[in-house]
Amino acid sequence: MEINKIGVIGAGTMGNGIAQVCAAAGKQVVMVDVSADAVARGLKTLAGSLDRLVKKEKISAADKDATLARIQGSTAYADLADVDLVIEAATENESLKLRILKDIEAVVRPDAIIASNTSSISITRLAAALQHPARAIGMHFFNPVPLMALVELISGLQTAESTIEASRAFALAVGKTPVAVKNSPGFVVNRLLCPMINEAIFVYQEGLASAADIDEAMKLGCNHPIGPLALADMIGLDTMLSVMEVFYQGFNDSKYRPAPLLREMVDAGYLGRKSGQGFYSYS
Ligand code: NAD
Repeated sequence: MEINKIGVIGAGTMGNGIAQVCAAAGKQVVMVDVSADAVARGLKTLAGSLDRLVKKEKISAADKDATLARIQGSTAYADLADVDLVIEAATENESLKLRILKDIEAVVRPDAIIASNTSSISITRLAAALQHPARAIGMHFFNPVPLMALVELISGLQTAESTIEASRAFALAVGKTPVAVKNSPGFVVNRLLCPMINEAIFVYQEGLASAADIDEAMKLGCNHPIGPLALADMIGLDTMLSVMEVFYQGFNDSKYRPAPLLREMVDAGYLGRKSGQGFYSYS
């Protein structure tokens, strides 16, 4: 099955990025959010992102116009009736996503693929909300979507091989590199990245080295573009804590326990960049 028309649910950070890469690759896109305001904000961000590419001479002004012309903003799920694939990128909340997936299935064709961009919710549990769960899959894009090459394709227990294959072809067609992974907390990237950051917080709380030296060590010793503590500040310490809690509970394994200092900093309101204070100060 070839995927030519895509529905994107949510016009936020991830949704408008996903809409942009699909449309830039020549696909028709319907981007749905709850209010006309939210749709307009998403379209404005997307146009701004294309403007920057024009300025850097990565695309022409005509490419930008053609990309925008392929995107229809909407507040009505009924506009998804003829799409081949829906990618749900709404707020990370399980009961909300379960409801959205049911609403999508009620309007799309029986053979349409239904994907979720969730970072932390079980694809198997989300798929179970559908009458035809074999068509459900996780498509985990990375932020910022236009710049990040990877898409993790997560199969739940119910996902059909044909769903994985069509999703893989789609990811390649929009210029991404797919990696297939079975459903499990954190998939591959966050499963490896977040415990490494958590361990850096243990190293820091034990007083083994300063924050700047821990980051310098990982930058120069592992060729990481950014140190783990600076990255924690960027991701948000509240997000980091909730990911570690999902691992700790999901695997029921003490090796994933959040560093006590991480919890303490979240309790203090030190959330990283967004609050102005984390392992570093951002005033
Ligand atoms: P966001 O808050 O920027 O955007 C979410 C959008 O969903 C909002 O515009 C909201 O109005 C909309 N929405 C809420 N309910 C809706 C509904 N019923 N129908 C249509 N739209 C609805 O969030 P985000 O950062 O774009 O995250 C979206 C998803 O992507 C989450 O599942 C998140 O876990 C995942 N994700 C986020 C990142 C990241 O770095 N931000 C990376 C990978 C995956």
